[in-house]
Amino acid sequence: MIAELVTTGSELLLGQIVNTNAAYMARELNQMGIDVCFQTTVGDNRVRMKEVLVHALTRADLVITSGGLGPTRGDITKEVSAEIMGREMEQDEDCVARLKEHFARIGREMTENNLRQAMIPEGAHIFVNHAGTAPGVAMERDGKMLVNLPGPPSEMKDMFQRSLAPYLVEKYGISSIIYSRVLHTYGIGESMLETKIDDLILAQKNPTLALLVRPTGVIIRITAKAESETAAEALIAPVENEIRARLGSLVYGADDEKMEEIVGRELKTRGLTVATAESCTGGLVASRLTDVAGSSEYVKGGIVSYTDEVKAKLLGVPREILAQHGAVSEPTARAMAESARRVLGADIAVSTTGLAGPGGGTENTPVGTVFIAAAGADGTVAEKHSFTGTRGQIKFRASQAALALLREELEKNKLCR
Ligand code: ATP
Repeated sequence: MIAELVTTGSELLLGQIVNTNAAYMARELNQMGIDVCFQTTVGDNRVRMKEVLVHALTRADLVITSGGLGPTRGDITKEVSAEIMGREMEQDEDCVARLKEHFARIGREMTENNLRQAMIPEGAHIFVNHAGTAPGVAMERDGKMLVNLPGPPSEMKDMFQRSLAPYLVEKYGISSIIYSRVLHTYGIGESMLETKIDDLILAQKNPTLALLVRPTGVIIRITAKAESETAAEALIAPVENEIRARLGSLVYGADDEKMEEIVGRELKTRGLTVATAESCTGGLVASRLTDVAGSSEYVKGGIVSYTDEVKAKLLGVPREILAQHGAVSEPTARAMAESARRVLGADIAVSTTGLAGPGGGTENTPVGTVFIAAAGADGTVAEKHSFTGTRGQIKFRASQAALALLREELEKNKLCR
């Protein structure tokens, strides 16, 4: 079965909002085993919307719209859909009752135009909106289905999960789902990774394997098609185990896990605290560490030592090191981490110093050069990186490298035994 998503609204065409509804619906439908072959966006214009929907119904079995179900004149999706499906609009008394109830509950007067939301194409299946006021609808004709969902993402998602997904499962007798496991790697490039698991990629059928480059590192997506989540997990498990066995600690997490969460867990289990001294990342490492709930248990604090003055005065980096080696150097990175550990009283400290660009690069120290160090009771380790990308990308990559270094050293029990 082929599905087409039609997202409506001029805000989308003007680039004022990102089309998260299309991404969400596509992900959900694919997981249900429904192939999304087309995605179209159209503004709130009757003629163009009609053209898009008519076309969509010629090439897809299932067309799902989002947006334009509101109470104002500009909200035309339901009317246009009804016209295409050859249905009159009629007032639905249950919808009217629900609207009245809603406005009584929030203590606001219901205006006449709100009743537009209770106008439903005759004979349509109605999806109650539990997160807002505009109901959704589904209509069928000549073996094709047209569904209208509301635009606000919270309302759309709630209706999709609660009503549309079970409705589609029943209508189409869907018995298979698509389920994915994502493995996050760090410290290995895409091509090297491919050579390590090339035979698994070539042999793939169910599950399938895909390598994707992300700012956090390369991810491996293992996708299985099965009758249930449990059955899919059973297909994925042997492949996942084999990949993990081959890659070892290059795999740092799975699914939604983030590097900062892994580092936090390692620190917590070992009862250690951490501090940061950041130059080019401007506090991003500390920010990411504190994104994790409960991080107050192990994050001591951080110093954004951007200028040499702050590096020397606040952190206590010896001025001779700065003068002799420069701010962007391994000795400075080491001294920053060691000083932060001392000044902030942490078991471990991590530092970053580098050039995020776009200007300021030299032949010896081009833009993207970043030194990272981690210091503990048992010593200090340092790394040099050469990142590419925009200023923001270099900052993020440096923060990821700093967290990865912390993870590696914690796992090896090297900095604090
Ligand atoms: P309302 O009852 O609020 O008028 P509606 O069903 O008419 O809802 P729209 O007016 O099209 O929906 O969109 C309402 C808001 O929902 C938009 O301003 C935007 O913030 C968000 N929205 C709409 N479509 C999308 C989309 N495709 N992706 C992300 N957000 C969206």
